Amino acid sequence: MSSGGSEWRRPSATDPPVVVIGAGVSGLAAAWRLHRAGIPVTVLERRRRVGGVMNTVDVGGHVFERGPNTVISPEGHLLALIDELELSDRVIFGREAAHRRLIWRHGRMHDLPGGPGGLLGTSLLSWRGRARLLSEPFRSPLAEPRDETVAEFFGRRIGPEAVASFIDPMVSGIYAGDVDRLGADAFPKLMALEREHGSLVRGLMQSRKGGAPRPDRRLIGFRDGLSELPARLRERLGTRVRLDHDVREVRPGTDAPWEIFAMDDDRQARYPASGVVLAVPAWEAARLLAPVDAPLAGRLGAIPHAGIISVGLGYPRAQVERPIEAFGLLCASDSPLPQTGPVLGVLFGSSIFEGRAPDQDLTFTVMLGGARDPEALSLDDAALVDRARAALGVVVGARGAPTAVQVSRWPDAIPQIPPGHLRTVAALREGIAAWPGLALAGNYLDGVGVDSAIGAGFGAAALLAGPDVEVSA
Ligand SMILES: Cc1cc2nc3c(=O)[nH]c(=O)nc-3n(C[C@H](O)[C@H](O)[C@H](O)COP(=O)(O)OP(=O)(O)OC[C@H]3O[C@@H](n4cnc5c(N)ncnc54)[C@H](O)[C@@H]3O)c2cc1C
Repeated sequence: MSSGGSEWRRPSATDPPVVVIGAGVSGLAAAWRLHRAGIPVTVLERRRRVGGVMNTVDVGGHVFERGPNTVISPEGHLLALIDELELSDRVIFGREAAHRRLIWRHGRMHDLPGGPGGLLGTSLLSWRGRARLLSEPFRSPLAEPRDETVAEFFGRRIGPEAVASFIDPMVSGIYAGDVDRLGADAFPKLMALEREHGSLVRGLMQSRKGGAPRPDRRLIGFRDGLSELPARLRERLGTRVRLDHDVREVRPGTDAPWEIFAMDDDRQARYPASGVVLAVPAWEAARLLAPVDAPLAGRLGAIPHAGIISVGLGYPRAQVERPIEAFGLLCASDSPLPQTGPVLGVLFGSSIFEGRAPDQDLTFTVMLGGARDPEALSLDDAALVDRARAALGVVVGARGAPTAVQVSRWPDAIPQIPPGHLRTVAALREGIAAWPGLALAGNYLDGVGVDSAIGAGFGAAALLAGPDVEVSA
């Protein structure tokens, strides 16, 4: 099908709306910015709630985040959104205890060093591993740059021991990923430091010297959990958000530039649209675009994804023998917790934010699944809870039955950025530009974190509304 060649014209208030497909944070952020720019907008969401994977539930006073638990705003998109939505008075920041992060390797817990000085004393590296890491500034970049996995890129820069001790658990924590398959493209800023300065350490030091602002690393939460953010967006967008609308087809229209077909309570509804924002996972965008632009759909569909499971458990404090005040623990994949089955990590919810558990209780979230353990998604809830309980038995000495339980499965939720992905994103953006009024948003474009997903939504809105729409803070 051809793109028809018609030029994109910013819709006016009397034109058909821009339809945003998907009410996760990226779609809601796009819709919000379009709405603020005076462009009519409709959001179609297949679930009965907004937020996508961002979803908080309260089980007997334990505040469990089913998806993201803690968010930061290194690019300022989330902070800008909080400001625009007048949500600042609902924000809470991480507790002091949450600065402490732990790694499980070689049968025990280690503190993650807080800064470069800590690397010298860390129990995570042998002397040889430390010497290798400290030689990073003196290592030449590749003579001929090539696509690399995370293990190859960081192995070259800081050595295989530091990869196994720090990078592997970090990749589990951010991407539920596998360092041998995930591309270095998942860390574009670090790739750029090597390209521009020849070394990660030298690059970091020079950007500090040059007065580059440090990214904001504060842990951001909301008093009643992260769901407050999509809830406020929904409130501000009002009836423009239509739940229970499963979009089945998108195509260039006859009486409007685009038309969208959605199932609304067993009834097919047609939506004429001035433009379309596909704010759905890459594989769903691929399905919707396949009849419109097969090569573009092919690129989207080729991005691999991993599933993840979060098991929230609440315990009376008295049942926890060795409570730990810290953010959480990540497991190195070569050193699984003993007798539990594979575990990605544990978050100590009640140490991270105030008000996550009743007074005499503690709240935990155990993360399972990911790229290295796809079979976990086919286990039943009882088996997942058993594994999570066993993990907490090892880590904090939790005994007996938990008093609150929440199992959340997210199949195909986390894009596993392959080597060369930055080129794919550039090709996607170029391909989509051939379709006036079409835009992509989501967590496979600029980064998997919430801040990046919001940024991708803002970017989609800016593409359709024009450059006068503010993209970030
Ligand atoms: C368990 C888990 C933990 C995470 N932890 C963190 C964390 O601690 N910090 C962090 O920054 N990030 C974290 N992330 C990542 C981050 O939460 C996500 O990348 C981000 O929220 C994705 O937002 P999104 O809007 O792009 O996609 P989604 O949230 O997936 O939203 C897409 C929406 O589109 C809808 N949809 C799909 N197809 C259709 C259709 N055909 N018609 C209508 N609607 C459709 C879906 O129902 C969904 O609501 C985590 C993710 C998961 C799963």
